[in-house]
Amino acid sequence: MSSCTTVEELGNEVYVLRLGHRPQRDKRITTHVALVARAFGARGIYIAEVRDDSIKQSIKKVISKWGGSYFEISDGVDPLTIINKIKSESGCIVHLTMYGLPIDNVINEIREKCKKILVIVGAEKVERLYYEIADYNVAIGNQPHSEVSALAIFLDRLWRGREINICFPDAEYYIVPSRRNKVVKRVDRK
Ligand code: SAM
Repeated sequence: MSSCTTVEELGNEVYVLRLGHRPQRDKRITTHVALVARAFGARGIYIAEVRDDSIKQSIKKVISKWGGSYFEISDGVDPLTIINKIKSESGCIVHLTMYGLPIDNVINEIREKCKKILVIVGAEKVERLYYEIADYNVAIGNQPHSEVSALAIFLDRLWRGREINICFPDAEYYIVPSRRNKVVKRVDRK
């Protein structure tokens, strides 16, 4: 864990806003959005409008084993309240959409200008309002794919790959990379 990067060292403080979660259909994909957010350096995720305790429970389980107790997960939030809060803190709103500007054209500006970032990802159709509110509508290519891949690639370009080696100092377990085996160790805090 010696060469890992702390979440503070990444620089920008990133939160994710998940729009349009449908508890019957999107449990797995919203859980994966949250897993990507935590694993790749975001500080938290807001799930708009609806409550879904099962997602919160699975992320909390991951955090208790693998660390990241700073990671916030809030559901049933009013998206405009969150957006206004980030704007009032001089943060930027980045909406990921296949219709936006190519990531390569805007990522350097976002990295430099936006100390705090709220990344919006949708499920189905995202209302026009969010395209207007966003400081940046960003496309990860102009083909439809997934909010999970879009978020992962956005964070990776933002931090130029440094987030891959993020460290979670409060983890209970860590992995020793291995060619063929699953090597998991418990952190010795004595
Ligand atoms: N036609 C939809 C749209 O407005 O982008 C695609 C919906 S897709 C199933 C769900 C979410 O994935 C979108 O709201 C967007 O956040 C993200 N997404 C999908 N493809 C993307 C792309 N090429 N670039 C950026 N984000 C994308």
